[in-house]
Amino acid sequence: MLSVKPIYDYLVIGGGSGGLASARRASGIHGAKVALIEAQHRLGGTCVNVGCVPKKVMWNAASIAESLRDAKSYGFGDHTPVKFDWQFFKEKRDAYVKRLNGIYERNLGNDKVEHIQGFASFVNKNTVRVKTSETESIEVQAKKILIATGGHPLIPDIPGAHHGIDSDGFFDLEHQPKRVAVIGTGYIGIELAGIFNTLGTKTTVFSRSKQILRSFDSIIRDNLLKEMQAVGVDFAFDASVQALVRDGETGPITVQYKTDGKPASLEVDTVVWAIGRLPNLKKLNLEAAGVTLNDKGYIEVDDYQNTNSDGVYALGDVCGKAELTPIAIAAGRKLSDRLFGGEQFKNSKLDYENIPTVVFSHPTAGTIGYTEEAARQKFGDENVKTYTSKFTNMYFAMLEHKEPTAYKLVCAGADEKVVGVHILGRGSDEILQGFGVAVRMGATKANFDACVAIHPSAAEELVTMR
Ligand code: FAD
Ligand code: NDP
Repeated sequence: MLSVKPIYDYLVIGGGSGGLASARRASGIHGAKVALIEAQHRLGGTCVNVGCVPKKVMWNAASIAESLRDAKSYGFGDHTPVKFDWQFFKEKRDAYVKRLNGIYERNLGNDKVEHIQGFASFVNKNTVRVKTSETESIEVQAKKILIATGGHPLIPDIPGAHHGIDSDGFFDLEHQPKRVAVIGTGYIGIELAGIFNTLGTKTTVFSRSKQILRSFDSIIRDNLLKEMQAVGVDFAFDASVQALVRDGETGPITVQYKTDGKPASLEVDTVVWAIGRLPNLKKLNLEAAGVTLNDKGYIEVDDYQNTNSDGVYALGDVCGKAELTPIAIAAGRKLSDRLFGGEQFKNSKLDYENIPTVVFSHPTAGTIGYTEEAARQKFGDENVKTYTSKFTNMYFAMLEHKEPTAYKLVCAGADEKVVGVHILGRGSDEILQGFGVAVRMGATKANFDACVAIHPSAAEELVTMR
């Protein structure tokens, strides 16, 4: 059965970070007639359901485990071995996410966005068919359509790959594995490895190179790797995973891999693939809308989130540029301002330069702007000056294990404009936001130095570097 819904000003495909933000801005602030289509039975997309939110809650749990271990040195008695009730905590975490799903639903209603549950595919550039059940579909027409369908984890095509789970599967784990292999050393691999290890799972990370967090500045890469090794994470470097072999239906999994060309294997209880993500484009029927992809298979957009098809827009992970929740949200709001906000917003667009971002590792790592390497390439060696500092945060003065704190400022030009801030250490996740504002404002090293230090803190080092 097929019915046709009335025409909307704006139809948003995808109820994740970007889609929700854009739909609500268009309807709630600018008064457009908006509908939002979401395939899942829960709103919020990756971030809320299988990303930032449950990940951060797990990171918080891991941080409490760290504090319990540290407690003795601060005079609180011995709380080791730390026992974590994974199942109990998963239930609480899931309930929290469910509450958020409800809040998102209510917020859509408050902003008068019509929520259509179902899977969307294009009929033409102004019409979308939504499969609302096994037997029912509706057609929805709109003047303008936004594609904000996000992405999904990549699983490689090797024998037995399906024995591994991905980051979505991580959030489904009912029990804490005793031994885990995490394959991939980007954001997700490093964050999940940190959570597992800190909560007491024997963790081995597989890197296809000799490093982790390849796109980050060396001060973060090198010091975080050393620290992860110091707290017991094992690494397999130059490792190319060839196959996963499971012993029986539910037995342990053997990771068969090659390292330096030689065969090796490791038996674990759980394997997590964290080797990147792909855009959700399958069955979207983009051809019917005339939308083209770039050479990496993501939707091609210009600076204003316009696709090549007039009246069709795309943003967030489906475009493959800075796959972060605040980016999807900001791009979504800017786009709605431009499309529905009138003359004053006619040039509204997101500036993708200088985006602060944090890896929720142990300790956290924060970065904004150019790495030293990128700055040297961009501005020339003679125009780049760096300031670095490595020290022990006072918190660790009372402890046996001294976790590192390592900071780098990358400055360019005669006025030493700060074009990169790279920080690793306790609290870096919270420290970076303010320094992000300074970098966005074009602060120089002299501006940093002119700000009086807050003592005793770790961040004070960033305004006293010599
Ligand atoms: P999504 O949030 O993925 O939303 C897309 C929505 O579209 C989904 O709900 C999907 O069901 C729906 N959809 C897809 N196809 C269709 C269709 N045909 N019809 C209808 N609906 C459809 N970012 C951060 O900034 N900080 C973090 O700490 C962080 N942690 C992360 C941790 C993990 C494990 C992962 C996987 C990601 C993390 N991210 C983090 C990234 C962040 O989650 C994404 O960048 C963000 O969710 C992208 O938003 P989006 O709107 O583009 O897509
Ligand atoms: P990333 O692109 O960050 O990392 C992918 C990792 O997988 C890299 O280490 C890469 O190695 C490795 N890899 C790729 N292909 C293979 C392969 N075939 N075999 C072995 N290793 C492989 O992707 P993620 O999945 O970690 O995260 C996706 C995005 O989600 C991130 O880029 C980020 O934008 C977002 N995110 C943000 C978070 C945050 O803000 N805190 C947290 C989690 C995700 P190599 O380095 O050699 O290329």
